[in-house]
Amino acid sequence: MSFEVFPPKTDAAFASVKAATEEIAQLKPAFMSVTYGAGGGTSAYTLEIARNIEAQYGVPMLAHLTCVSSTREMVAERIAAMKAAGIENVMALRGDLTPELEGADRSNWPYRYAVDLIRELRESGGDFCIGGACYPEVHPESANQKEDIAHIKAKVEAGCQFLTTQMFFDNNLLYNFLYKLREAGVTVPVVAGIMPITNANQVERAIKLSGSHMPQRFKSLVDKFGSDPAAMKQAGIAYATDQIIDLFANNVTNIHVYTMNKPDVAAQIQRNLSDILGK
Ligand code: FAD
Repeated sequence: MSFEVFPPKTDAAFASVKAATEEIAQLKPAFMSVTYGAGGGTSAYTLEIARNIEAQYGVPMLAHLTCVSSTREMVAERIAAMKAAGIENVMALRGDLTPELEGADRSNWPYRYAVDLIRELRESGGDFCIGGACYPEVHPESANQKEDIAHIKAKVEAGCQFLTTQMFFDNNLLYNFLYKLREAGVTVPVVAGIMPITNANQVERAIKLSGSHMPQRFKSLVDKFGSDPAAMKQAGIAYATDQIIDLFANNVTNIHVYTMNKPDVAAQIQRNLSDILGK
């Protein structure tokens, strides 16, 4: 099991994010990932946090990198900074299109898709282990799943060595997706991304961000406990734990938990699974 954290958006928030990520690192996950602001604004923090956790806690780090609307020079600089920071594992992403970017003429962009960044990382001589994103419920810009999976396959052929999924709340959607990936000849490890929803406000944001289907079982839980923060947190952690147990039972054993920088949530999930994880 591994954990994701996100970097601070401002200098003022740096100390609290650093403390939270250190607490999460003390749980000794298989690895931790640090996300990257699409516009590159938080890029320095991504590397700073990744370097600190790896050096101090010995937890292998995965640094995210996005390329949307970047120039070749900008990406070359970022790759050089990652090499200098000793980062060996990179999650290569396109990044979301902001409303302004959506309307832009993208035909001349050096990086239109994540696959362009993956090729660049492969050719950079950095010997990086490269990951990519995948979407059990289809990326919102894709016309259909077949097309989306063909694009995922192209990322793997370009040098992506593992895939991490977007959050999902119905495991059957993941199992179905995995069958289709394997059928298409994509054989790299797939890490299942699990988002523990611990407050009612998160629900709307999560759906908007990911477009994920909320099963009735989950909706009922939010309806019942959403107005009681402590109960919602307990129920959300239990739901995520249950999803993970079902994944393990079905031999999906690489799990990435989107911690939202909450050490108590990460720790509780790990405690709930102590015998299963052997921790
Ligand atoms: P791509 O793989 O480029 O796919 C984007 C879309 O283009 C898909 O619909 C795909 O099917 C399509 N496509 C790909 N290739 C082609 C082609 N040749 N022709 C036509 N269409 C094509 N965002 C951040 O800003 N920072 C982060 O740290 C971050 N971390 C993430 C981690 C995970 C695990 C996931 C699942 C998402 C993350 N995101 C992050 C969000 C991500 O940037 C967005 O979902 C983005 O919209 C797509 O990124 P991608 O790398 O999947 O893009």
